[in-house]
Amino acid sequence: MDTDTISAISTPVGEGAIAIVRLSGPEAVARANKIFHGKELEQVASHTIHYGKLFDPKSNELVEEVMVSVMRAPKTFTREDIVEINCHGGLVSVNRVLELVLDQGVRLAEPGEFTKRAFLNGRIDLSQAEAVMDLIRAKTDRAMNVALKQMDGRLSQLIHQLRQQLLETVAQVEVNIDYPEYDDVEEMTNELMIENTKKVHQEIERLLQTAKQGKILREGLGTAIVGRPNVGKSSLMNALVHENKAIVTEVPGTTRDVIEEYVNVRGVPLRLIDTAGIRDTEDLVEKIGVERSRQVLQEADLILLVLNYGDELTEEDEKLFEAVQGMDVIVIVNKTDLPRKLDIDRLHEIAGEHTIVNTAIIEEEGIDQLETAISEIFFEGDLDTGDMTYVSNVRHVQLLNQAKEALEDAMSGMEEDMPIDIVQIDVRRTWELLGEIVGDSVSDSLLDQLFSQFCLGK
Ligand code: GDP
Ligand code: ZN
Repeated sequence: MDTDTISAISTPVGEGAIAIVRLSGPEAVARANKIFHGKELEQVASHTIHYGKLFDPKSNELVEEVMVSVMRAPKTFTREDIVEINCHGGLVSVNRVLELVLDQGVRLAEPGEFTKRAFLNGRIDLSQAEAVMDLIRAKTDRAMNVALKQMDGRLSQLIHQLRQQLLETVAQVEVNIDYPEYDDVEEMTNELMIENTKKVHQEIERLLQTAKQGKILREGLGTAIVGRPNVGKSSLMNALVHENKAIVTEVPGTTRDVIEEYVNVRGVPLRLIDTAGIRDTEDLVEKIGVERSRQVLQEADLILLVLNYGDELTEEDEKLFEAVQGMDVIVIVNKTDLPRKLDIDRLHEIAGEHTIVNTAIIEEEGIDQLETAISEIFFEGDLDTGDMTYVSNVRHVQLLNQAKEALEDAMSGMEEDMPIDIVQIDVRRTWELLGEIVGDSVSDSLLDQLFSQFCLGK
């Protein structure tokens, strides 16, 4: 286990007026004390904050005016001694402070290393550690709430409960194996086992059902705006972006034509797909080719299909409807300020069950209704989701699916009156798979991989 002292800038670079350099490890207080002039940090009470100045011991030069918090183990995030140096923002000054700290024989933390230590020291479990990462990346308040709850241990608690139930089931089986001569014990345990596993199975299914929403909160609702040239796609896009204070994100490592733009519509993060292609007033197909645009459509969770109220429905419009069959679609009839040429009856025929929203984007009309329609699709009418435990992590979803399968094996084994110790193997496997979610029984290489995805300083 690592026991050296590490440090990193733990606030986002360039943001906010105050930046924090954090140290964690057995030497954190001693090393900070070497550069801090104010109080003797090794003598102050735990969880206190102190004003002072940082000096470079080599040159005796004043580096920064700071506030320093001292937090002694074990009641800290990493369960190690932690010192946080609050300095005035500004990249240059923060970096100088970090350099000064590193000069005292403190090692620069790897990405995620603080969180990794918190996990390794038993302060948080793996799903909580992953929540820290989600929190850093959260794009809307709602996504942040989900991550916060997970960090708070909601998901962990649920998983622990399910594991406990399985463990009790296994214990029942043990009784059964140890005392096979008691017939009534056997019958009782069998029934109890079936009942128990059913309950756990239901819970796992319920959790898996939240995965779709969870994924969307995490990654954004992949949204493609489609429609013939000139119907108003770019205008719609701009309207959405303007109204909702877009968080513009350039995903590193992606090509120019898949720059993604995020907008927050009533707490639903929309990830507008291929906006570069749409922005240039070309239509999707023309710009990026038929194959690619099919792929874009397939990757989308939501299609905004735009039509022109002032124009007749064309064959192209009808083809678009075919292309998005079976998907979540909102039909937008734009330019309602123009005289109608659109065949409304025909539209209702081809639109089927899809929601239709009328807009005159140029007059800023209908955007509100569109936003309502979007949030209704996401929350499926149920806006009171604030208290749900979502599963949003791909790794968790995979494990839950595997656990569900193992449990189903156990259940069919019970129904077929298989030997109880065979059934027990599947129950135990379910228990282990659930354990991987919270980080019992995970391999070192998986840990390294997970934590390396963190930002520096977390
Ligand atoms: P795109 O090719 O589908 O991206 O369409 P644009 O957004 O570039 O819009 C094409 C033209 O339609 C532009 O001149 C817009 O100003 C205009 N337009 C967009 N929305 C409306 C609307 O609601 N009413 C009217 N009359 N014109 C609109
Ligand atoms: Zn356009």
